[in-house]
Amino acid sequence: MSARVLVLGSNFAGLTAALSIRSHLGRDADVTVVAPSDKFVFNPSLIWLPFGRRGRTDVSFPVAPTLEKRGATFVHGAATYVDPEAHRVETTEGDLDYDYLVIATGYRNDLDVVPGMSETPTITTLPDAERTYDAWRRFLDHPGDVVIGATQRASCFGAAYEFLFNTSYQLRRAGLHGKVKLTYVTSEPYAGHFGIDGMPGARTLMKMFAKKEGITVEANQSMSEIRPDAVVLDDGRELDYRFAMIVPPFRGQDFLAKTPDLVDAGGYVPVRPTYQSERWDDVYAVGIAAAVPVPWTTQVATGIPKTGFPSEQQAHVAAKNIVSQVRGEEPTVAKEFAKIPALCVMDAGNNGVAMVADHMLPPRKAAVMVPGPQNHAFKVAFEKYSLAKMKAGRVSLP
Ligand SMILES: Cc1cc2nc3c(=O)[nH]c(=O)nc-3n(C[C@H](O)[C@H](O)[C@H](O)COP(=O)(O)OP(=O)(O)OC[C@H]3O[C@@H](n4cnc5c(N)ncnc54)[C@H](O)[C@@H]3O)c2cc1C
Repeated sequence: MSARVLVLGSNFAGLTAALSIRSHLGRDADVTVVAPSDKFVFNPSLIWLPFGRRGRTDVSFPVAPTLEKRGATFVHGAATYVDPEAHRVETTEGDLDYDYLVIATGYRNDLDVVPGMSETPTITTLPDAERTYDAWRRFLDHPGDVVIGATQRASCFGAAYEFLFNTSYQLRRAGLHGKVKLTYVTSEPYAGHFGIDGMPGARTLMKMFAKKEGITVEANQSMSEIRPDAVVLDDGRELDYRFAMIVPPFRGQDFLAKTPDLVDAGGYVPVRPTYQSERWDDVYAVGIAAAVPVPWTTQVATGIPKTGFPSEQQAHVAAKNIVSQVRGEEPTVAKEFAKIPALCVMDAGNNGVAMVADHMLPPRKAAVMVPGPQNHAFKVAFEKYSLAKMKAGRVSLP
């Protein structure tokens, strides 16, 4: 009888895990994927939506044909409860039994982080980025000062920086550069920390970029309120704005917390280096859904970004271990998040920075940051390649 593998989530981590398991096990695995969104969304492109440089269909595609072509079943619904003892997941489309479960349900915005966050433009989901498009249009009709930022406990700093530098580029195109004040507010201890700390030259490079673009940086800051016209900092200062985009912290999906001992305080699943949950051998968690302990203390709480490359790597590790378990072997493939290589391109509109390191988190033996306009072209090429790769289901490609 085929092993029943149930995957919750169909984006970077879920799609990769499901297709990798299918390709290794073929008919020996009956793979079902459940997700409330029937689209794969390439989140790294959300930075461009507010400026009209991309639309919904440019950055997403329907996942069902991709999965079905490779023999997996797609259920368009949401998981509502995991019962690891009964090997069952309740979903809006009925109960599903499993032999192996992969939780790849990613993140949701934690909008309670600061009063006013839920009314403030952000870009962390497709609908959010579409709403921010409207806010940017209104701003162009009535320009004024701009605040871009990431709140306390935020982790997705790459998106905040990319949006900051793209905003600067767009202000130039609109003839507003130098006429309005552009401020970056962040919980990071310094601009260039990125939530991963220690990238060589990052601090100097970000200082140079900010100076060249006329950006005022407010690092080490906690926000106490976001009003429709001002970001209020914990020290009482008010940063007035006509347009703001703020990145909130993320949390794991709420339904996971209904299962005792499954998730930590942030709603993420604590995992072993095999990506098995700490508690259950047949429950895996990959991508943003997997917990990563923050190995340092900063004055203002700063999260760790869980990017696409490690999400896919984790999915491959989990897939190999499930294949072993199905074959009656021990799940021995292990790769801690901190030791996965970092590979990231930070776009700046018509410029950018490539960041490559042997490890996501310090200590690192090799790490380099390469600035230059070629990085914009590289990010666009990366977008086209990733979307084509995922749509074709060729998840074994790098
Ligand atoms: C604006 C932005 C820019 C980014 N830029 C970059 C970048 O330049 N480079 C990079 O590497 N990374 C970038 N990232 C990070 C990257 O998007 C994430 O690493 C990636 O999305 C993680 O994939 P995931 O599959 O773990 O989670 P997600 O992408 O969050 O996917 C979660 C999946 O779970 C599903 N789901 C949700 N709830 C349920 C439920 N109840 N039941 C079943 N399924 C559920 C969702 O529908 C979705 O399919 C960026 C992120 C953002 C927001």
